[in-house]
Amino acid sequence: MSSNLHPEVLSFGKAHKKEYAAIRRAILRYNKIAVFRHIKPDFDAMGSQMGLVTWLKDNFPEKEVRFLGDNHVTFTPRLFPETENLPNDWFAKGDFLAIIVDVGDVERIADPRFQHARYKVKIDHHPCKTEIAKRATVCEKSSASAAELVADFCLNFKGAKMSQEAARYFYIGIVGDSGRFLFSSTSAHTFAVAEELLKTGININKIYLAMYQKTIQSLKNQAYVLSHFSVTPHGVSYYLLPYDVQQELKITTEQGKENVNLFSNIEGINAWCSITEDVDKKEPCWRISIRSKEKDISGVANKWGGGGHAQASGAKIKDLSELNAFLQDLDDLFR
Ligand code: AMP
Repeated sequence: MSSNLHPEVLSFGKAHKKEYAAIRRAILRYNKIAVFRHIKPDFDAMGSQMGLVTWLKDNFPEKEVRFLGDNHVTFTPRLFPETENLPNDWFAKGDFLAIIVDVGDVERIADPRFQHARYKVKIDHHPCKTEIAKRATVCEKSSASAAELVADFCLNFKGAKMSQEAARYFYIGIVGDSGRFLFSSTSAHTFAVAEELLKTGININKIYLAMYQKTIQSLKNQAYVLSHFSVTPHGVSYYLLPYDVQQELKITTEQGKENVNLFSNIEGINAWCSITEDVDKKEPCWRISIRSKEKDISGVANKWGGGGHAQASGAKIKDLSELNAFLQDLDDLFR
């Protein structure tokens, strides 16, 4: 990359000098590289993964670079390519480098075969719960998205280039997890990385149209949410999407949270949640996406089988008998 990088970008490189060097050495050493991210992917999981995969392919065309994980219901193939169906043989000898992005917990890594890797690297912005990669982990909680951090690593890699395609993926991740540069996690560093990506000539108008494209059906779904939400005494709004309603609205469980931010800037609402029934046979539950204006809701998310960030976390309850206790915990934050 050019030597006239924005000083903010160089600051992450300085703070993580040792880890960045370990990751650089690992990338240079291995000919087979597989990039992993979390289950139920969002813009950031897929953007940071595909940005890195594209950057690796662009700069190391002699290496075999693969990507794993479940596809997203609407992002694939509209924004991201279909994930690959790699046979177990590929992993069996362990002669590959696993790079895990945007995931803090082992259980949330979308393909368990990362475990076979001789060497593991993790680049993430979630709180580090379990140690996945002993010697090469970068956990930067101040990064608004994993894409911001992974792009930072790539930009700091001397002599490497950032193509327009890789920049486009990273930009999608950054925009997604920073809520279009709106969340308080957005920093000078976020803008500095975005600036470097914009220099490649990406078309942000096209990116936004593709990311936030809506259908007439999705407007009807918003109408449903707006006429079925409730608010607790201290300003926690929530809506429930039982399985039969999801079918009626023609949405998947994953799409249940799509309207959660309708409540993001409403006077008197301090935190807001979508609560979506997941009839997954293995572990039926109600998946909760929690967002907050100011207070840190990650503690409540952790208590209720999840985790995440101060203003955006995920949790779950096993059935509706737990709903009131969960809502009470959240409501108590705003007493
Ligand atoms: P979501 O509500 O699924 O959009 O999640 C919001 C944020 O919390 C994302 O950054 C997720 O990665 C994170 N998150 C969601 N569920 C969990 C979980 N069970 N454990 C840790 N982090 C989570």
